[in-house]
Amino acid sequence: MSETIFSKIIKREIPADIVYENDTVLAFRDINPQAPVHILIIPKEEIPTVKNLDPVRHGEILSAMHAAANEIAVAEGIADDGFRLVYNCCKHGGQEVYHLHMHLLGGRQMKWPPG
Ligand code: AMP
Repeated sequence: MSETIFSKIIKREIPADIVYENDTVLAFRDINPQAPVHILIIPKEEIPTVKNLDPVRHGEILSAMHAAANEIAVAEGIADDGFRLVYNCCKHGGQEVYHLHMHLLGGRQMKWPPG
């Protein structure tokens, strides 16, 4: 698999505003924020898209990503009002970076349906 910009952020080859890290996941602020709080939560393992997730092999990673989202939401002061978690998958999902990532968006009222 070809390396993405997120692999380079994991390896500290390019800078990012990192807000959370443990052995499994890394989280950093989106460079083009769509809300007052917009953080990307990524696994350190290179998994291209949601379609590549294996329910058995990747269960711990998914759990760690969601635990990170809850912890970050508290730290960012958006847990009480709520927030949105988004995975964009492939072309119609609008995915640009093919390293699995969850968008954590908050700090304003979200709308539904999305565009
Ligand atoms: P997606 O469209 O779901 O693949 O989202 C990719 C996200 O990565 C976009 O919201 C971009 O703004 C964000 N992004 C791209 N490059 C960087 C970077 N170097 N640092 C932080 N966020 C980035």
